[in-house]
Amino acid sequence: MTTQTYTGGCQCGAVRYEVTVDLDSTVVCNCSRCGRLGTIMAFTTMDQFKLLSGEGAMTEYMFNHHVIHHLFCSTCGIQSYSYGKRPDGAEMVAINCRCLDGVDPWTLTPKQFDGKSL
Ligand SMILES: [Zn+2]
Repeated sequence: MTTQTYTGGCQCGAVRYEVTVDLDSTVVCNCSRCGRLGTIMAFTTMDQFKLLSGEGAMTEYMFNHHVIHHLFCSTCGIQSYSYGKRPDGAEMVAINCRCLDGVDPWTLTPKQFDGKSL
């Protein structure tokens, strides 16, 4: 796998997006949110992400340093992506790889990120 364009979204179909990501570099995190959700994340830049539908269909949740916008579908509750600023200030999008069409999450080999200790 290399960098590829995928479509994805929430469970009910209200939120749909197109995104270009490298699924060879995925991450799982043990922080108070990711640890509960079990999200497998892949990161990309804003210009590689296009929201096709779902603007206004999502609820935003922020915690901790309030730099990441966690967006979940107000209907089905699935958080298919989030966005925010990296520590260096650059805008980034975190994709929930479990929400990508045609991607088997069991084929991914995510690295562990110790978000709990931050
Ligand atoms: Zn939904």
